[in-house]
Amino acid sequence: MSQKIVVDFGLCESNGVCMGIIPEVFDLDEDDYLHVLQDEVTPENEQGVRESVRQCPRQAISIVDE
Ligand code: SF4
Repeated sequence: MSQKIVVDFGLCESNGVCMGIIPEVFDLDEDDYLHVLQDEVTPENEQGVRESVRQCPRQAISIVDE
């Protein structure tokens, strides 16, 4: 079973906390729109993704089982 990163864009306030933790996964563009560059949780990104879930001040990031 794989796990997927989901951002609730209605909650996200584009403060860039997640990008500061793991820019390989989260990217804010010049219009302050957040892009999820890889939406699969992998052994390589899992620690940073979970840290982003914990630290997102809007609790906008979740990890869902597929
Ligand atoms: S940390 Fe949360 S609120 Fe901030 S940009 Fe990332 S998803 Fe949006």
